[in-house]
Amino acid sequence: MRQILKFIGTGGAFSTKYVNNSAYYYLKNDEILLFDSGETVFHEILKLNIITEKIKRVDIVITHFHSDHVGSLGSLVFYLRFKKVREVNIIFPIKRLPYMLLDIYGIDEKLYNVKTPKEIEGYYIKEYEQLHGDVGDNGEIIPMPSYGYHVINDNDNFFYSGDTCTISDIILEKFKDKKIKVMYHEVATDGYKSHMQLDDLAKLIAFEDRKRIFCMHMGDNVDVLEIKKLGFESVR
Ligand SMILES: [Zn+2]
Ligand SMILES: [Zn+2]
Repeated sequence: MRQILKFIGTGGAFSTKYVNNSAYYYLKNDEILLFDSGETVFHEILKLNIITEKIKRVDIVITHFHSDHVGSLGSLVFYLRFKKVREVNIIFPIKRLPYMLLDIYGIDEKLYNVKTPKEIEGYYIKEYEQLHGDVGDNGEIIPMPSYGYHVINDNDNFFYSGDTCTISDIILEKFKDKKIKVMYHEVATDGYKSHMQLDDLAKLIAFEDRKRIFCMHMGDNVDVLEIKKLGFESVR
């Protein structure tokens, strides 16, 4: 299976081996769709020289507001203005959260747009709620707003998960029916209940479908060989 997304980082929040999980995708020659902007992501974007002169529009999809997903969003939005990117859209279903964060960073609302997936033009994007948050003393998840996104653009069709401990039936169904063709999904092997554990993912996905799943957002202890052995792909 072809990996459509280009990964800036593939690591989980506490990873020291990999930088924060983030990926981008060319919607058009001069338009980029970026998933998350965690603490380490902005510097990687500079190092990789992703924002070239030709880029006119950047859509930044936020999965949730843990800082390994939004920690460098302020610097990134400033930089996109500095590089004279004409249109900067931040995509999140609850509009007040990006506004609050960027207000704290001192970034004027006129410098960017916040849009819900429904308001986005030029391609299809739809959010799906995920189950993620802190883990309470009794092992229960204290949920926060976290979303995965289904994107269709020309012939590309993929799902990018937010942090989540499970996959909802509706997403599983769409994936099985190939209405979602490829899935980029977070995995962990640390037993922490707020994240999708690799063995639980294997319980949810039939073996023949696993090659359409690229595992990402990995902790240092995730064994890539183990992922392959189970029939999944891992992102590069
Ligand atoms: Zn995370
Ligand atoms: Zn998280």
